[in-house]
Amino acid sequence: MESIGNVFCVGRNYQAHIEELNNQRPKEPVWFMKPSHSVVVCGQDQRIILPKDQGEIHYEVELVIQMKADYLPNQPLETLVGTVALGLDLTLRDLQSQLKAKGLPWLRSKGFKNSAVLTEGVPYSSLGDFGETNFQLRINDQIVQRGNTQLMIFNLEELLANCWEQFDLKAGDIIFTGTPAGVGGLTDGDKISMYLNDGCLGECVISLK
Ligand code: ZN
Repeated sequence: MESIGNVFCVGRNYQAHIEELNNQRPKEPVWFMKPSHSVVVCGQDQRIILPKDQGEIHYEVELVIQMKADYLPNQPLETLVGTVALGLDLTLRDLQSQLKAKGLPWLRSKGFKNSAVLTEGVPYSSLGDFGETNFQLRINDQIVQRGNTQLMIFNLEELLANCWEQFDLKAGDIIFTGTPAGVGGLTDGDKISMYLNDGCLGECVISLK
């Protein structure tokens, strides 16, 4: 990916994940952000260091896009979106529950160091139809999450337009587009592999410290 600007994330964009966390189906995208410093690009055998003593860390595999141009309404996606990667939106789930219960912002539970793990990107134009893209997370070679963009509640056009309307959206910004069902906890030594349409885009190993 090119130099990364803002890191926007969409929560609750796949019905099955909404149900597993007992959340409501949103009428508009649910946005939150991560600090750009939370991004780490994974490489084979690379260890991703995560906090050991702050409760459960949930993985959420997501398609991530990076803008190559400032957003303008009614432009075709191929002129706006440069690359597509996979990402893990990591969440300190116990801490998030505590923060939510107190009505406090999620930032500490979603924005900690290395909480945004990215694979290398591929050109958007190489994907064919983004609206029919499959992706997968494997942990220790077992498939734990499968997603298909057909199941997104808000599709990519809608996400970009809504993000731009509310916050502006410029070249370099990235968007985590939401996770399908199957989120769960990480353990020390887990081997992570992220697949886009059956090709592995990135691997790393989790190290809890
Ligand atoms: Zn997420």
